[in-house]
Amino acid sequence: MSGLIFDKSKAGRRCAVIPSCDITGYSIPADYLRAEKAELPEVAEVDLVRHYTNLSRKAYGVDNGFYPLGSCTMKYNPKIDEDAAELRGFTDVHPLQPINTVQGCLEAMDMLAGFLCEITGMDALTLQPAAGAHGEFTALSLIKAYLTDRGETGRTKLIVPDSAHGTNPASAAMCGFTVVNIPSTPDGLVDIEALKSAVGDDTAALMLTNPNTVGKYDRNIETFAKTVHDAGGLLYYDGANLNAIMGIVRPGDMGFDAVHLNLHKTFATPHGGGGPGSGPVGCKARLAKYLPRPVVTKNDGTYSFETPEKSVGMVKSFYGNFLVCIKALAYIMTLGAEGIREASENAVLNANYLQESLRDSFDIPFDGPCMHEFVLSLERLKRETGVTASDIAKGLIDRGIHPPTMYFPLIVHEALMLEPTETESRETLDFAATALKDALQAAYSDPDSLHRAPVTTPVGRPDETAAVRNPILKA
Ligand SMILES: *Cc1c(COP(=O)(O)O)cnc(C)c1O
Repeated sequence: MSGLIFDKSKAGRRCAVIPSCDITGYSIPADYLRAEKAELPEVAEVDLVRHYTNLSRKAYGVDNGFYPLGSCTMKYNPKIDEDAAELRGFTDVHPLQPINTVQGCLEAMDMLAGFLCEITGMDALTLQPAAGAHGEFTALSLIKAYLTDRGETGRTKLIVPDSAHGTNPASAAMCGFTVVNIPSTPDGLVDIEALKSAVGDDTAALMLTNPNTVGKYDRNIETFAKTVHDAGGLLYYDGANLNAIMGIVRPGDMGFDAVHLNLHKTFATPHGGGGPGSGPVGCKARLAKYLPRPVVTKNDGTYSFETPEKSVGMVKSFYGNFLVCIKALAYIMTLGAEGIREASENAVLNANYLQESLRDSFDIPFDGPCMHEFVLSLERLKRETGVTASDIAKGLIDRGIHPPTMYFPLIVHEALMLEPTETESRETLDFAATALKDALQAAYSDPDSLHRAPVTTPVGRPDETAAVRNPILKA
């Protein structure tokens, strides 16, 4: 049974019966009273439960099956981390509570910041930003404050390679910088000559996504760092893809001055679904005094909040998405240093296993091994059969897996980008490879079946433009 909860409504039906209010002697000003009764559905508890359970079954998540959405890290997160974040000592606190009553929470924040500094090779860190892009903006604000403080206001340009995540140029522009785009080489790496000619005394920083959005680790990273630093600029590392490198290499050791992480990709908070995220920013000592306030400090065994000397201010209310931080802390502590490294090693191994399983069937635009994700190009398939990357993606839904990322990165035509993550078994990867090859074969034998796909879902092919412009959310 589907339909709207309102369709199931019967006047007078109730979930819980509570006695009517027998308190007298209070009055609510007329301005605050409703003129009419609220239009709420009236249903019994069992109907309510069934309604939402049935709706949840129509949604596809990582708890349902394989979800290889690239540039997203849709990995399975251990339930023990959720358990930790549900502990009452963490949930039943108020941000305005006296500091001596929440010492344990501050200790947890301090521990997490310490672990993340260790993992990234940074000296100081804020947990306040609520997402990756927010972290980028925060880190660029630190860089801007640092340059302004030194009187280097002529440094207005941010260099952003074309293989960066789309949020990078957006954050740079939001922060008031001018974006200078530099191209990639045919093997998907930053063009070092282009970088050399772009840097100068107007360079504020280089923003580097590494591994980049085609799943490549840039081997020349130390040369970039030297080139930019020699020119007086700073280096910012987009660490949203840390799932590929944690425990193995550290942005701080590569020469980077600031980094953001996505706890909602790498550190045990589900990505997607609109839930809270967290984009902590780590920095080297020279940027620490600009960090958002407050930061947790410890003196004589007591934790307190302090304002860094030249803080850029707050970027979010209070202390960030605290419970997301607790999940990250639980994740790091349960895995330990070895487990963290192993998670990355397996993420890279799984991506390479799937890439190699597909190499003979699909066109793979970049040679060699990948990091945590890889890209297929379906340009030739489209030419030969009229079946597009989008058709194949929709065909995969009928074959039991969530579509990969489509038409991204923009530098590959008819792109499908897959990120299997470390939490998938070899059997699941084999199943996915079979599904992809099966869809590819169908493109040649029965292309119409893919133009019609998906046929196994409640909704098949909405008109994509109309669906965005005029969404009907209750069918
Ligand atoms: C996901 C991602 C971001 C943006 O993170 P949000 O939390 O979605 O804002 C930035 N950079 C890279 C490389 C990413 O993969």
